[in-house]
Amino acid sequence: MTAGVEFRGLRRMFGRTVALDGLDLTVRPGELMALLGPSGCGKTTALRCVAGFEHPDEGAVVVDGEDVTRRPANRRDTGMVFQSYSLFPNLNVRDNVAFGLRVRKVPAARRHARAAELLELVGLPTHGERYPHELSGGQQQRVALARALAPEPRVLLLDEPLSALDAKVRLTLREEIRRLQLDLGITTVFVTHDQEEALSVADRVAVMREGRLEQCAPPAEVYDRPATPFVAEFVGTMNHLPGRLSSGEVTVLGMTLPVEGPLPATPEVDVLARPEAVLLTPDPDGEGLVVTSSFRGSSARLRVRLGDLEVLSDVPGHDTVRLAPGTRVGVGLVRRPVLVAGRAGES
Ligand code: ATP
Repeated sequence: MTAGVEFRGLRRMFGRTVALDGLDLTVRPGELMALLGPSGCGKTTALRCVAGFEHPDEGAVVVDGEDVTRRPANRRDTGMVFQSYSLFPNLNVRDNVAFGLRVRKVPAARRHARAAELLELVGLPTHGERYPHELSGGQQQRVALARALAPEPRVLLLDEPLSALDAKVRLTLREEIRRLQLDLGITTVFVTHDQEEALSVADRVAVMREGRLEQCAPPAEVYDRPATPFVAEFVGTMNHLPGRLSSGEVTVLGMTLPVEGPLPATPEVDVLARPEAVLLTPDPDGEGLVVTSSFRGSSARLRVRLGDLEVLSDVPGHDTVRLAPGTRVGVGLVRRPVLVAGRAGES
Protein backbone atom coordinates (compact mmCIF):
# COMPACT_ATOMS: atom_id res chain seq x y z
CA MET A 1 0.00 0.00 0.00
CA THR A 2 2.96 2.27 0.54
CA ALA A 3 4.05 4.44 -2.35
CA GLY A 4 6.50 7.18 -3.09
CA VAL A 5 5.38 10.59 -4.33
CA GLU A 6 7.28 12.76 -6.76
CA PHE A 7 6.68 16.38 -7.56
CA ARG A 8 8.35 16.94 -10.93
CA GLY A 9 8.80 20.52 -11.98
CA LEU A 10 5.34 21.55 -10.80
CA ARG A 11 4.24 24.98 -11.92
CA ARG A 12 0.90 26.58 -11.13
CA MET A 13 -0.22 30.14 -11.76
CA PHE A 14 -3.32 31.83 -10.42
CA GLY A 15 -3.69 34.86 -12.66
CA ARG A 16 -0.36 36.57 -12.22
CA THR A 17 0.41 34.88 -8.90
CA VAL A 18 2.97 32.11 -9.17
CA ALA A 19 1.87 29.55 -6.57
CA LEU A 20 4.30 26.83 -7.69
CA ASP A 21 7.41 27.78 -9.60
CA GLY A 22 9.01 24.50 -10.63
CA LEU A 23 8.71 22.42 -7.47
CA ASP A 24 10.89 19.31 -7.47
CA LEU A 25 10.64 16.98 -4.51
CA THR A 26 10.64 13.24 -3.87
CA VAL A 27 8.86 11.67 -0.90
CA ARG A 28 10.09 8.15 -0.22
CA PRO A 29 7.75 5.24 0.44
CA GLY A 30 6.72 5.20 4.11
CA GLU A 31 8.25 8.58 4.80
CA LEU A 32 6.61 11.48 6.63
CA MET A 33 7.60 14.62 4.74
CA ALA A 34 6.71 18.00 6.18
CA LEU A 35 6.17 20.84 3.72
CA LEU A 36 7.18 23.93 5.65
CA GLY A 37 7.23 27.55 4.61
CA PRO A 38 5.68 30.96 5.10
CA SER A 39 2.10 31.73 4.18
CA GLY A 40 1.60 31.80 0.42
CA CYS A 41 4.72 29.79 -0.51
CA GLY A 42 2.61 27.14 -2.25
CA LYS A 43 2.42 24.32 0.32
CA THR A 44 -1.31 23.78 0.06
CA THR A 45 -1.29 24.06 -3.73
CA ALA A 46 1.43 21.38 -3.88
CA LEU A 47 -0.60 19.08 -1.62
CA ARG A 48 -3.79 19.65 -3.60
CA CYS A 49 -1.92 18.71 -6.78
CA VAL A 50 -1.25 15.29 -5.23
CA ALA A 51 -4.87 14.88 -4.16
CA GLY A 52 -6.10 15.91 -7.60
CA PHE A 53 -8.07 18.91 -6.31
CA GLU A 54 -5.65 21.18 -8.15
CA HIS A 55 -3.91 20.75 -11.48
CA PRO A 56 -0.45 21.98 -12.37
CA ASP A 57 0.05 24.08 -15.50
CA GLU A 58 3.35 22.30 -16.03
CA GLY A 59 5.11 19.34 -14.50
CA ALA A 60 3.90 16.01 -13.17
CA VAL A 61 2.80 14.29 -9.99
CA VAL A 62 4.01 10.72 -9.78
CA VAL A 63 2.67 8.25 -7.21
CA ASP A 64 4.29 4.85 -6.90
CA GLY A 65 6.02 5.36 -10.22
CA GLU A 66 2.77 6.22 -12.07
CA ASP A 67 2.10 9.63 -13.52
CA VAL A 68 -1.25 10.60 -11.97
CA THR A 69 -1.25 14.23 -13.13
CA ARG A 70 -4.34 13.79 -15.32
CA ARG A 71 -6.13 11.30 -13.10
CA PRO A 72 -9.30 12.50 -11.30
CA ALA A 73 -9.14 12.91 -7.52
CA ASN A 74 -11.36 9.93 -6.78
CA ARG A 75 -8.98 7.59 -8.59
CA ARG A 76 -5.78 8.63 -6.91
CA ASP A 77 -5.92 6.57 -3.74
CA THR A 78 -5.03 9.43 -1.44
CA GLY A 79 -6.58 10.30 1.91
CA MET A 80 -6.70 13.94 2.97
CA VAL A 81 -7.25 15.74 6.27
CA PHE A 82 -7.96 19.47 6.22
CA GLN A 83 -7.40 22.22 8.73
CA SER A 84 -11.12 22.72 9.36
CA TYR A 85 -12.73 19.53 10.50
CA SER A 86 -14.84 19.10 7.40
CA LEU A 87 -16.83 16.13 8.72
CA PHE A 88 -20.32 15.59 7.31
CA PRO A 89 -22.51 17.14 10.04
CA ASN A 90 -25.56 14.99 9.24
CA LEU A 91 -23.68 11.69 9.48
CA ASN A 92 -22.66 10.07 12.74
CA VAL A 93 -18.99 9.32 13.43
CA ARG A 94 -19.16 5.74 12.17
CA ASP A 95 -20.79 6.76 8.89
CA ASN A 96 -18.29 9.58 8.46
CA VAL A 97 -15.44 7.12 8.81
CA ALA A 98 -17.13 4.61 6.50
CA PHE A 99 -18.01 7.24 3.89
CA GLY A 100 -15.16 6.50 1.50
CA LEU A 101 -15.99 2.81 1.65
CA ARG A 102 -19.65 3.42 0.86
CA VAL A 103 -18.63 5.42 -2.20
CA ARG A 104 -16.55 2.41 -3.22
CA LYS A 105 -19.61 0.15 -2.72
CA VAL A 106 -18.06 -1.89 0.08
CA PRO A 107 -20.85 -3.98 1.73
CA ALA A 108 -22.33 -2.57 4.97
CA ALA A 109 -20.98 -5.25 7.30
CA ARG A 110 -17.41 -4.74 6.09
CA ARG A 111 -17.79 -0.99 6.20
CA HIS A 112 -18.89 -1.07 9.79
CA ALA A 113 -16.15 -3.45 10.83
CA ARG A 114 -13.54 -1.25 9.17
CA ALA A 115 -14.98 1.90 10.77
CA ALA A 116 -14.84 0.23 14.20
CA GLU A 117 -11.23 -0.78 13.57
CA LEU A 118 -10.26 2.75 12.58
CA LEU A 119 -12.06 4.35 15.52
CA GLU A 120 -10.15 2.02 17.80
CA LEU A 121 -6.93 3.06 16.10
CA VAL A 122 -7.56 6.79 16.67
CA GLY A 123 -8.63 6.25 20.27
CA LEU A 124 -12.40 6.77 19.87
CA PRO A 125 -13.79 3.23 20.06
CA THR A 126 -17.02 4.23 21.78
CA HIS A 127 -17.85 7.35 19.76
CA GLY A 128 -19.35 5.76 16.64
CA GLU A 129 -22.93 6.83 17.30
CA ARG A 130 -22.12 10.43 18.10
CA TYR A 131 -22.50 13.32 15.71
CA PRO A 132 -19.66 15.72 14.84
CA HIS A 133 -21.16 18.60 16.85
CA GLU A 134 -20.96 16.40 19.96
CA LEU A 135 -17.18 16.10 19.66
CA SER A 136 -14.30 18.37 20.65
CA GLY A 137 -12.05 19.79 17.94
CA GLY A 138 -9.34 17.25 18.67
CA GLN A 139 -11.84 14.39 18.50
CA GLN A 140 -13.20 15.68 15.20
CA GLN A 141 -9.69 15.66 13.74
CA ARG A 142 -9.21 12.08 14.93
CA VAL A 143 -12.40 11.15 13.10
CA ALA A 144 -11.20 13.02 10.01
CA LEU A 145 -7.96 11.04 10.19
CA ALA A 146 -9.88 7.75 10.56
CA ARG A 147 -12.04 8.72 7.59
CA ALA A 148 -9.00 9.48 5.46
CA LEU A 149 -7.33 6.17 6.38
CA ALA A 150 -10.38 3.90 6.10
CA PRO A 151 -10.08 3.13 2.36
CA GLU A 152 -6.37 2.26 2.84
CA PRO A 153 -4.98 5.08 0.71
CA ARG A 154 -1.48 4.85 -0.73
CA VAL A 155 -0.69 8.34 0.48
CA LEU A 156 -1.93 10.40 3.42
CA LEU A 157 -2.14 14.16 2.86
CA LEU A 158 -2.43 16.42 5.90
CA ASP A 159 -3.12 20.11 5.34
CA GLU A 160 -2.36 21.99 8.59
CA PRO A 161 -4.41 19.36 10.46
CA LEU A 162 -3.57 20.74 13.90
CA SER A 163 -3.76 24.50 13.35
CA ALA A 164 -7.29 24.95 14.65
CA LEU A 165 -6.64 23.08 17.91
CA ASP A 166 -5.48 24.49 21.22
CA ALA A 167 -1.84 24.07 22.19
CA LYS A 168 -2.12 21.03 24.41
CA VAL A 169 -4.35 18.99 22.10
CA ARG A 170 -2.10 19.97 19.24
CA LEU A 171 0.93 18.42 20.93
CA THR A 172 -0.84 15.18 21.86
CA LEU A 173 -2.42 14.73 18.48
CA ARG A 174 0.77 15.37 16.57
CA GLU A 175 2.50 12.62 18.52
CA GLU A 176 -0.39 10.30 17.84
CA ILE A 177 -0.39 11.09 14.14
CA ARG A 178 3.31 10.27 14.04
CA ARG A 179 2.85 7.00 15.96
CA LEU A 180 0.01 5.94 13.70
CA GLN A 181 1.95 6.90 10.59
CA LEU A 182 4.93 4.82 11.71
CA ASP A 183 2.71 1.85 12.66
CA LEU A 184 0.95 1.89 9.30
CA GLY A 185 4.09 2.79 7.38
CA ILE A 186 2.00 5.11 5.22
CA THR A 187 3.68 7.71 3.03
CA THR A 188 2.55 11.06 4.37
CA VAL A 189 2.86 14.67 3.29
CA PHE A 190 2.20 17.06 6.17
CA VAL A 191 1.73 20.75 5.37
CA THR A 192 2.49 23.18 8.16
CA HIS A 193 3.81 26.71 8.65
CA ASP A 194 4.89 25.82 12.20
CA GLN A 195 8.59 25.00 12.23
CA GLU A 196 8.53 23.27 15.59
CA GLU A 197 5.73 21.01 14.40
CA ALA A 198 7.61 20.18 11.21
CA LEU A 199 10.88 19.44 13.00
CA SER A 200 9.24 17.25 15.61
CA VAL A 201 7.10 14.96 13.42
CA ALA A 202 8.87 14.59 10.11
CA ASP A 203 11.49 12.21 8.73
CA ARG A 204 12.49 15.02 6.41
CA VAL A 205 11.45 18.63 6.15
CA ALA A 206 11.00 20.35 2.78
CA VAL A 207 11.35 24.09 3.25
CA MET A 208 9.54 26.00 0.51
CA ARG A 209 9.88 29.58 -0.58
CA GLU A 210 7.93 31.31 -3.32
CA GLY A 211 6.77 28.10 -4.96
CA ARG A 212 10.16 26.39 -4.98
CA LEU A 213 12.09 24.01 -2.79
CA GLU A 214 14.73 25.74 -0.70
CA GLN A 215 16.05 22.71 1.19
CA CYS A 216 14.93 19.16 1.90
CA ALA A 217 16.70 17.32 4.70
CA PRO A 218 16.18 15.57 8.05
CA PRO A 219 15.09 17.97 10.84
CA ALA A 220 18.46 18.17 12.57
CA GLU A 221 20.18 18.97 9.30
CA VAL A 222 17.72 21.70 8.37
CA TYR A 223 18.29 23.21 11.80
CA ASP A 224 22.06 22.77 12.11
CA ARG A 225 23.11 23.05 8.49
CA PRO A 226 20.59 25.29 6.78
CA ALA A 227 21.36 25.38 3.06
CA THR A 228 20.50 29.05 2.68
CA PRO A 229 20.12 32.12 4.88
CA PHE A 230 16.35 31.92 4.23
CA VAL A 231 16.16 28.46 5.81
CA ALA A 232 18.41 29.55 8.66
CA GLU A 233 16.06 32.43 9.34
CA PHE A 234 12.78 30.61 8.91
CA VAL A 235 13.61 27.56 11.02
CA GLY A 236 14.43 28.42 14.62
CA THR A 237 15.82 31.65 16.02
CA MET A 238 18.96 33.27 14.66
CA ASN A 239 21.32 35.97 15.87
CA HIS A 240 22.97 38.23 13.31
CA LEU A 241 26.42 39.28 14.47
CA PRO A 242 28.67 41.58 12.47
CA GLY A 243 31.75 39.79 11.17
CA ARG A 244 34.58 40.31 8.73
CA LEU A 245 35.63 37.70 6.18
CA SER A 246 39.22 37.09 5.33
CA SER A 247 40.59 34.07 3.43
CA GLY A 248 37.69 31.75 4.24
CA GLU A 249 37.53 32.62 7.92
CA VAL A 250 35.44 35.14 9.75
CA THR A 251 36.28 37.34 12.69
CA VAL A 252 33.34 37.79 15.02
CA LEU A 253 33.13 38.80 18.70
CA GLY A 254 36.93 38.82 18.78
CA MET A 255 37.17 35.17 17.64
CA THR A 256 38.23 33.76 14.30
CA LEU A 257 36.05 30.89 13.06
CA PRO A 258 35.89 28.81 9.89
CA VAL A 259 32.97 29.50 7.55
CA GLU A 260 30.71 26.90 5.97
CA GLY A 261 28.32 27.31 3.09
CA PRO A 262 28.37 29.95 0.36
CA LEU A 263 30.48 33.08 0.84
CA PRO A 264 28.93 36.49 0.17
CA ALA A 265 30.78 38.83 -2.19
CA THR A 266 31.60 41.48 0.39
CA PRO A 267 33.94 41.04 3.38
CA GLU A 268 31.51 42.70 5.82
CA VAL A 269 29.02 39.94 6.70
CA ASP A 270 26.40 38.84 9.17
CA VAL A 271 27.43 35.75 11.10
CA LEU A 272 24.36 33.62 11.79
CA ALA A 273 24.41 32.06 15.24
CA ARG A 274 21.73 30.10 17.09
CA PRO A 275 21.04 31.21 20.68
CA GLU A 276 22.51 27.94 21.97
CA ALA A 277 25.79 28.71 20.16
CA VAL A 278 26.23 31.99 22.06
CA LEU A 279 28.35 31.48 25.19
CA LEU A 280 28.21 33.86 28.15
CA THR A 281 30.81 34.15 30.90
CA PRO A 282 30.14 36.34 33.95
CA ASP A 283 32.84 39.01 33.91
CA PRO A 284 32.68 42.39 35.67
CA ASP A 285 34.71 43.87 32.78
CA GLY A 286 32.66 42.09 30.09
CA GLU A 287 31.18 44.14 27.26
CA GLY A 288 27.81 42.41 27.45
CA LEU A 289 24.99 43.08 29.87
CA VAL A 290 22.22 40.57 30.59
CA VAL A 291 19.00 42.51 30.13
CA THR A 292 16.25 39.94 30.51
CA SER A 293 16.00 36.26 31.28
CA SER A 294 13.05 34.07 30.41
CA PHE A 295 13.12 30.81 32.27
CA ARG A 296 11.82 27.71 30.47
CA GLY A 297 12.67 25.00 32.96
CA SER A 298 15.57 23.04 31.52
CA SER A 299 16.86 26.12 29.72
CA ALA A 300 16.50 29.88 29.76
CA ARG A 301 16.74 32.45 26.98
CA LEU A 302 18.74 35.51 27.90
CA ARG A 303 18.69 38.82 26.07
CA VAL A 304 22.11 40.44 26.21
CA ARG A 305 23.02 43.99 25.20
CA LEU A 306 26.39 44.23 23.50
CA GLY A 307 27.06 47.80 22.37
CA ASP A 308 24.36 48.48 19.77
CA LEU A 309 23.53 44.81 19.40
CA GLU A 310 20.99 42.60 21.09
CA VAL A 311 22.07 38.99 21.31
CA LEU A 312 19.95 36.02 22.37
CA SER A 313 21.62 33.24 24.29
CA ASP A 314 20.14 29.98 25.52
CA VAL A 315 21.72 28.70 28.70
CA PRO A 316 20.94 25.74 31.00
CA GLY A 317 18.10 26.62 33.39
CA HIS A 318 20.34 26.37 36.47
CA ASP A 319 22.64 29.06 35.04
CA THR A 320 20.01 31.77 35.42
CA VAL A 321 21.23 32.54 38.93
CA ARG A 322 24.80 33.43 38.00
CA LEU A 323 23.55 35.10 34.80
CA ALA A 324 20.70 37.14 36.31
CA PRO A 325 19.63 40.38 34.59
CA GLY A 326 22.15 43.12 35.39
CA THR A 327 25.13 40.73 35.20
CA ARG A 328 28.04 41.84 33.01
CA VAL A 329 29.23 39.08 30.71
CA GLY A 330 31.79 38.20 28.10
CA VAL A 331 30.10 37.01 24.90
CA GLY A 332 31.56 34.36 22.61
CA LEU A 333 30.52 31.64 20.20
CA VAL A 334 30.89 27.89 20.27
CA ARG A 335 33.99 26.99 18.22
CA ARG A 336 32.33 25.56 15.15
CA PRO A 337 32.12 26.53 11.50
CA VAL A 338 29.52 29.26 11.03
CA LEU A 339 27.13 30.30 8.31
CA VAL A 340 27.44 33.85 7.02
CA ALA A 341 25.17 36.07 4.95
CA GLY A 342 25.57 39.41 3.18
CA ARG A 343 25.18 42.20 5.70
CA ALA A 344 21.44 42.87 6.22
CA GLY A 345 20.29 45.81 4.11
CA GLU A 346 23.40 45.71 1.94
CA SER A 347 22.55 42.77 -0.28
P1 ATP B 1 -0.99 29.25 3.61
O1 ATP B 1 -0.09 28.68 4.66
O2 ATP B 1 -1.32 30.69 3.84
O3 ATP B 1 -2.16 28.41 3.29
P2 ATP B 1 0.42 28.15 1.36
O4 ATP B 1 1.89 28.08 1.46
O5 ATP B 1 -0.36 26.90 1.58
O6 ATP B 1 -0.10 29.31 2.27
P3 ATP B 1 -1.00 28.31 -1.14
O7 ATP B 1 -2.32 28.25 -0.47
O8 ATP B 1 -0.53 27.13 -1.86
O9 ATP B 1 0.12 28.73 -0.09
O10 ATP B 1 -0.99 29.58 -2.11
C1 ATP B 1 0.12 29.98 -2.90
C2 ATP B 1 -0.22 31.25 -3.63
O11 ATP B 1 -1.25 31.02 -4.59
C3 ATP B 1 -0.76 32.35 -2.72
O12 ATP B 1 -0.27 33.58 -3.19
C4 ATP B 1 -2.24 32.25 -2.89
O13 ATP B 1 -2.86 33.48 -2.65
C5 ATP B 1 -2.39 31.80 -4.32
N1 ATP B 1 -3.57 30.97 -4.53
C6 ATP B 1 -3.78 29.73 -4.03
N2 ATP B 1 -4.96 29.22 -4.43
C7 ATP B 1 -5.53 30.18 -5.21
C8 ATP B 1 -6.76 30.26 -5.93
N3 ATP B 1 -7.64 29.24 -5.95
N4 ATP B 1 -7.02 31.40 -6.60
C9 ATP B 1 -6.12 32.41 -6.62
N5 ATP B 1 -4.96 32.40 -5.97
C10 ATP B 1 -4.65 31.30 -5.27
